[in-house]
Amino acid sequence: MKAKKVNKAVAGIEKVELHQHVDGSIPIDITWKLMKKHGLNPVETKKEMEKLLVLQDGEEGALLRYLDKFHYPQWITQFYDNIASVIESIVTEAYHNNVRLLELRYAPIIHTFAGLTLRQAISSVLSGLNKSMKRFPDMELGLIVIAMRHQGPHIAKILARQAISEAQSLHGRCGVIGFDLAGAERGNPARLFGESYGIARSGGLQLTIHAGEDEDSRAIWESIDILGATRIGHGCSAIEDKVLLKRLARDQIMVECCYTSNYQTGAVELGEPHPILTFLEYGVPVSICTDNTTVSNTNQNVENSKLLQWLSLSEITRIHQASKKHSFIHKNGKPRFRREKGLNKGPKKQLGFA
Ligand SMILES: [Zn+2]
Repeated sequence: MKAKKVNKAVAGIEKVELHQHVDGSIPIDITWKLMKKHGLNPVETKKEMEKLLVLQDGEEGALLRYLDKFHYPQWITQFYDNIASVIESIVTEAYHNNVRLLELRYAPIIHTFAGLTLRQAISSVLSGLNKSMKRFPDMELGLIVIAMRHQGPHIAKILARQAISEAQSLHGRCGVIGFDLAGAERGNPARLFGESYGIARSGGLQLTIHAGEDEDSRAIWESIDILGATRIGHGCSAIEDKVLLKRLARDQIMVECCYTSNYQTGAVELGEPHPILTFLEYGVPVSICTDNTTVSNTNQNVENSKLLQWLSLSEITRIHQASKKHSFIHKNGKPRFRREKGLNKGPKKQLGFA
């Protein structure tokens, strides 16, 4: 595994992480420990396991090869206690990279194969987050529930209902703060998921979506106009559409930028400048995110150090401070309703909440 280069000044910045997946961010040590404990290790050494969990040289450039790395962690994250433990490990690692606000995201349905219910699959993560909050009281934490595109709009509605039942606004403790859609974009257009987003919104959740990573800018238009998303994950294809860039800037719709991941999945061609530069030029709010620290062999310090090639230290600091305003976590546990502030008008027509 390549050494991680970190700039000292960057390491000192207090960071906000708004787009990080649980499955792709489980530290190798705990994955290996749990695999050994349950007799699930497919290889004999941790070194060999690392190759299966981290994207290797020559594997870059295709979203599906990237997604293949999520296969092994799910062998261990089908059990309540394991899920809670890996969450604590992820939070601890983030804390040591000076992350003080962390929104984790996770698709509960792919953690029910060994018998956990959807509610248990969600509450196990919340258990890990709440334990972490006791350990790191200066951290703000929350969970975004993901529906997978390829499982279709009906499953997404079921997930939205489960997510709102664990919403942070309903509990004094750390809870679900947002709803997201992830997975292969092609063939699974955002416009089909309007009802699930309507349910999530009516239950007080904030809305983000993976869009424009593997599809053109139309996917982003659908995400904001039909689903009412106030943040976009990746959003790379927006740079081809000036009208959309102006709309994102006007409505202050944030793009969650994942530098390393975008080159690894092929969302951005190697050698091309990263879209974050265009977003900044147009006044589109951005956040600097890791996506998957283990699969991408990165962390917040590494991502920000890489961006230092194009952005000044003060600009990077500003981005993290400004990102806080777009976080779905509210300090008193109540989710914010950005639409009330008139920043995003939401969908033009009323959506059915079937
Ligand atoms: Zn992602």
